[in-house]
Amino acid sequence: MIQELYPGLFRTTIPIPNNPLKELNCYIIKGQDRNLIIDTGMNRPECEEVIMANVKELALDLAKTDIFVTHMHADHSGLIAHLATGSSKVYCSAQDEPMINLEESFFDKMRGFIPLGGFPADDFDQAVRMHPGYKYRCREYIHFTLLEDGDQLQYGNYNLTVIATPGHTAGHLCLYEPNKKILFSGDHILGDITPNISLHTAGEDPLTDYLASLEKTRRLALDNVLPAHRSLIPDGYARIEELKKHHAIRANEVLEILVGGREMNAYQVAAEMTWDMTYDSFELFPIAQKWFAAGEALAHLKYLETQGKLKRQLVDGTFLFSLK
Ligand SMILES: [Zn+2]
Repeated sequence: MIQELYPGLFRTTIPIPNNPLKELNCYIIKGQDRNLIIDTGMNRPECEEVIMANVKELALDLAKTDIFVTHMHADHSGLIAHLATGSSKVYCSAQDEPMINLEESFFDKMRGFIPLGGFPADDFDQAVRMHPGYKYRCREYIHFTLLEDGDQLQYGNYNLTVIATPGHTAGHLCLYEPNKKILFSGDHILGDITPNISLHTAGEDPLTDYLASLEKTRRLALDNVLPAHRSLIPDGYARIEELKKHHAIRANEVLEILVGGREMNAYQVAAEMTWDMTYDSFELFPIAQKWFAAGEALAHLKYLETQGKLKRQLVDGTFLFSLK
């Protein structure tokens, strides 16, 4: 599907088969001199076929087209190598670039999470191999042009300001068009689903970062928020409030699980949280889902520790959390 949202700005949807995200919104700006593709889809034939058909239908000259990826995840960066030509600039943040180009470091980094979160170590490699983010990643080295907060890009009549929005990933970037009050929100603000906020390494506090990033985008004048998945968001402010509330409820749930002097690791807390899944129990979740649930639990635990509500001890290589 191709939809012209504003003159020269197109929304195209790329299917993501067998995935709860369902589809990626790939935005394309057709400019006089150069075009910009915002996010690409996964490196799998179902995505490639559609994006190439869209490129053809819009008569995009890829030699005059640059690519911006909001963040490292494979549904956003997977097809860069298929679209980029020798004259294309490919943009992303300095924080996410090594995660696209040095895939081993990404998974090595996540491997460090196993003992910290209390995740069963034997399951890790299986979980990674089965994960769509690993299977359908970009497999070629990409020479990125690195962007940071406040950088400006111009395509057609669109003056785009880069807004660093860490949280969903450490290097997540949005693009903001101040004259038209449009925010390309990537996975920072989604309408129908909640962006996944997971902690995978010891030094990070992604939920604290994410809430600060929501606050940062709330201060922008927003007429239209264009997310990377599912429906467009006409009222960005209302959605930001909902997302803040969602995490406040989740954080409370975590606090309640720990009542009664319990000391628990992230995996144990995840097993007692409520999940929007069709399985009868946490034990029946696919491994990758358990692993992501534990990452989300750990993000909330770390946030509550930063808030001064929890204490954390390292016991036999695993973080145990308890109420202060
Ligand atoms: Zn993502």
